[in-house]
Amino acid sequence: MFRLFGNLWLDDPPDSVLTALDGALPLIRNLQQNITHGMHRSSNWSMDAAFKCYREEEYAWWKLHNVERSRKYLVHPSGRLDATVACHLFNPTFEIDEPCDGEIDDPSNPCIAQLHDVGLSAGNCLIFDHSARREDSRHCKMLYPPDLWDIHEAFVFALRSNIEAVVEICWGANVRERMLRRLQNNMCTLPLWGRYEGVTLYLELGEDKTSVRRFIIFVNHPQFFMFLKGTNVRAQAFRTEQGGRQDLMLEVASCLGNIVINAGFYKLSPLLLRPFRPTKAIREQRDTLKGQAYAELKAAFPGATLISSVKGTLSLSQKDHNELQGTKLPVIEHILKEHKIVTKDNIANDKALEEIRLQNVARFWGELHDVAVMFMPDASFNFAKKLECQQLINTIEASEGELYHWEELPASLAGLIQSQDGLRIDQHPIGSRKEAETAYRLLHCNGSPETFSIVGLAFAILITYAWSICRTPRDAINDLMVLRASSKGIVPRVCSSCNGRVLDDPFAYYAKNNVDYYVVKSSQTGCGLIDCTGRRVLLHPLDRSQSYVRALKKNLENIPNFRTRGGAEWEQYFLRRGQAELGEIPRTVELKCPREGCTGILEDDAPRWTIHSVPTVVLRQFTCPDCQRKGDWKPVNTAIKYITSETLSRTWGRFKKKGCDLAQYPRLADVYFAQGHITIRIAQLKEAKRLADESNAN
Ligand SMILES: [Zn+2]
Ligand SMILES: [Zn+2]
Ligand SMILES: [Zn+2]
Repeated sequence: MFRLFGNLWLDDPPDSVLTALDGALPLIRNLQQNITHGMHRSSNWSMDAAFKCYREEEYAWWKLHNVERSRKYLVHPSGRLDATVACHLFNPTFEIDEPCDGEIDDPSNPCIAQLHDVGLSAGNCLIFDHSARREDSRHCKMLYPPDLWDIHEAFVFALRSNIEAVVEICWGANVRERMLRRLQNNMCTLPLWGRYEGVTLYLELGEDKTSVRRFIIFVNHPQFFMFLKGTNVRAQAFRTEQGGRQDLMLEVASCLGNIVINAGFYKLSPLLLRPFRPTKAIREQRDTLKGQAYAELKAAFPGATLISSVKGTLSLSQKDHNELQGTKLPVIEHILKEHKIVTKDNIANDKALEEIRLQNVARFWGELHDVAVMFMPDASFNFAKKLECQQLINTIEASEGELYHWEELPASLAGLIQSQDGLRIDQHPIGSRKEAETAYRLLHCNGSPETFSIVGLAFAILITYAWSICRTPRDAINDLMVLRASSKGIVPRVCSSCNGRVLDDPFAYYAKNNVDYYVVKSSQTGCGLIDCTGRRVLLHPLDRSQSYVRALKKNLENIPNFRTRGGAEWEQYFLRRGQAELGEIPRTVELKCPREGCTGILEDDAPRWTIHSVPTVVLRQFTCPDCQRKGDWKPVNTAIKYITSETLSRTWGRFKKKGCDLAQYPRLADVYFAQGHITIRIAQLKEAKRLADESNAN
């Protein structure tokens, strides 16, 4: 066994860490010696006196910015300067029973209560905040300018240089961010091994860089675990992985500082799920103080975006009318059928692709439901109901919103966002807070994404995305479009007005008449980007060579390509329709690639049969999945007669040229397709009509 420091014992170090250890170990031994000989002890620095100075400076700063903010809401550190362990938090909030002239160690605040449950308190630690003023943490993060931070940090760093703690536990990404910025040139890292594999110790160096002042460990913020109220499989996995990691880091800290804590708290303790339900009077008092703080900030920072009120800040836009989709939300069944894989990209697979699309949508709704249950196990969610979604987000935002960084998003939420093709730009998954805020805007959510906690932001994105993908095409155009498989299924896009990049289209539709035409989606309210001044915009393909058509019935019908199905005028006269005319004729036809030597085969599940007395199939063009060539595919069964659409179009054109409107006459295949001159055939139709009229009259 190997003793690193204090009570921290590890297996003998493996070769992989020897280099890092060689540099760090002499410094660590040195720290141990200093402590043993009492050289680490602080002078007679007075925390109380320093705090009073700090409080006055902070008060003066606000005064200089036209606001009188009460000194009562600056919160004093707790614990002794000679504690071996320090807990470093970001800032105190109004989530407290007695807000005036307080100390940080007050377990009526849920975060501090969690520290107590872990076994950390003023009894064995020094606890302090990076900013001592009660505030919504998001406002500190968003609004405090550097010169204000300088005042807070002057105190914090004076305090830090006068405490005896050998290990400092920094809670949450806000603290980590500021500490790494301040100490970037005075730190080195030591990754641990064996039982503590995955834990990284930060060594804060003295000014001379030849000594270690103390160890720093960055752990997750208490709120990271507070959101999670569920006990389902996902929640258990979260506690095993994330909770287990947190326990390990705290175990390292307790060994370094030689204190006793509750081992395995985050992984196992039911106390973690304990609800906090303050009384109505307390809640109202807190809301009043928050309201006052907002007004003060508004005065100091005119024009800044604030978390404007305590409740009902968010409104998700469910409208977002566009040409392509209907507005009603279909009920999504949670039943998943066997997942088919369709690689062949052609119209014949249209139905299978639509089925897969619906399955993907249903799977996503199911996963979203599972994730939400992790956070609010008591609620039964119906994500199709706007009000329930609003409540979920309000509940999340009403808790303390200190989780702000993308890295503080639970993996299950981040993973769900990143797994969705339609939440990417150029198929690059969201990986930062900034990208998430952009996605929020592109989904046309109302409100300011920068005011959300990262968890609230993630849910707002997931819910609006869920709404958008479950909408189906409008009835009027549904039959005029097809989905396509493979690389054509996802389309990167730009806004027609501002040219900004928007989210990829995860379920791209194409015109049925000609699948080379992408059906472009539109928006009435710009693309959502901040700089977009457009109102009616098209989200057209990034690839300028990609043809596209708007999602209007007329446009889709008029796509000029009579070689593929749909729209050609002759169809209504020459093709068999309905059971009466189709009878026993097969509804699928196996086709083969026309190219010699190629073995490509596919199934046309919507063959067009003519009214020839011997049913004849109209050839269609497909791109061969095997040889990639395009051509008229012929039936595998050589007994099946076939004809090209050009031939039919030519025949129809002859009638038309002579001014003959086929709609006026009976549908007679033996006349339409007869060998005789067109004038003879028209005379035949006229005579047939006269005879039919006469027999009707009788
Ligand atoms: Zn469900
Ligand atoms: Zn735009
Ligand atoms: Zn082929």
